[in-house]
Amino acid sequence: MRKTIVAGNWKMNGTTESNKALLENLTAGLNAVDGLVTLVCPPAVYLAQVKQQLGNAPVAVGAQNVSAQPKGAFTGEWSLAMLQDLGCEYVIIGHSERRSIFGETDNQVAEKVAATLDAKLIPVLCVGETLEEREAGETINVVSNQVEAVLARVGIAALANAVIAYEPVWAIGTGLTATPQQAQDVHKAIRAQLAASDDSVAENMSILYGGSMNAVNAAELLAQQDIDGGLIGGASLKADEFLTICAAAA
Ligand code: PEP
Repeated sequence: MRKTIVAGNWKMNGTTESNKALLENLTAGLNAVDGLVTLVCPPAVYLAQVKQQLGNAPVAVGAQNVSAQPKGAFTGEWSLAMLQDLGCEYVIIGHSERRSIFGETDNQVAEKVAATLDAKLIPVLCVGETLEEREAGETINVVSNQVEAVLARVGIAALANAVIAYEPVWAIGTGLTATPQQAQDVHKAIRAQLAASDDSVAENMSILYGGSMNAVNAAELLAQQDIDGGLIGGASLKADEFLTICAAAA
């Protein structure tokens, strides 16, 4: 059964005080709906605070990144065991900002997804094309290569326990959004790619859209057949807006 997921990627934003207020407003307005997962992904330094404040609220917690290494001399990194220790359930992996600013390669992304699946956390694998790639007609190629890099590493059966987020790079944080049809076309292609290995994994895979999704455009995007939720950056920092997106997804 495909889950609908609305995930907030807080990126490098927040303070102890602002997180507290955001979570208070979020939990006060959130209606738990069967089949809908609400997820927040704060900066790693605030994961413990967020987890503790949420208590039993129906909001899952995820990290924005993780090391594929188990432990040791990796200054500045954190491990899957640490995320387990804090009660995190999800990890965003291969976000375009990690790929473009920090130089993460398809291979590193695949290793992180593999380690996350081994640790029984749920990777949110991000894929997406740049504007140049879209204009060159390369969108489906680029996205399918990114998916294939992970598929080849972990196999289709393990990938069943992951989530995929299609995030066109040109739409992230820019205010530009893929049209519902542009997004649907890529989501459909990703599902077809998975179906070539396993129909049931394809059918059950939650494929989220990300890229300037907001309270105004969410309903139309989420109405598309192959869009199973959203990965929300800027709009996840405003409780009202995030709640409106959650309501549109319910
Ligand atoms: C993101 O960070 O994954 C994202 C989609 O950001 P925004 O919603 O701000 O475009």
